[in-house]
Amino acid sequence: MAKILVVDDELQIRVMLKYMLEQDQHDVIEAQNGTDGSRLYRETQPDLIITDLVMPEKNGIDMLLELRKDFPAVCVLAISGGGGITGAFDYLPIAKLVGASDVLRKPFGMQELREAVRKALDEAR
Ligand SMILES: [Mg+2]
Repeated sequence: MAKILVVDDELQIRVMLKYMLEQDQHDVIEAQNGTDGSRLYRETQPDLIITDLVMPEKNGIDMLLELRKDFPAVCVLAISGGGGITGAFDYLPIAKLVGASDVLRKPFGMQELREAVRKALDEAR
């Protein structure tokens, strides 16, 4: 069981992730953009962040860069449909470059998520 911060601007995705993660007895904290995500990370010190990349206010890449400065060991699983507003730009490789432990492309299923979460938590320990 781990404490997991879920950051996504889409309510449906947060609801789905919370449901899936709670099936595995994880504790879930939710944020809807990188600004709230960053603040909640500092306040709650979760074991893992699962974050969307394209979000208003502060995107996932900026949040990750900011948190890395203060918490070099922050454990992050990035999720994204891949494209930006035009769908032409793929953000997932960028997430890897700035230190995400792993990336998951939307849409993903329960098994893929479970596997990626276990891997990320294993690496963090
Ligand atoms: Mg989004």
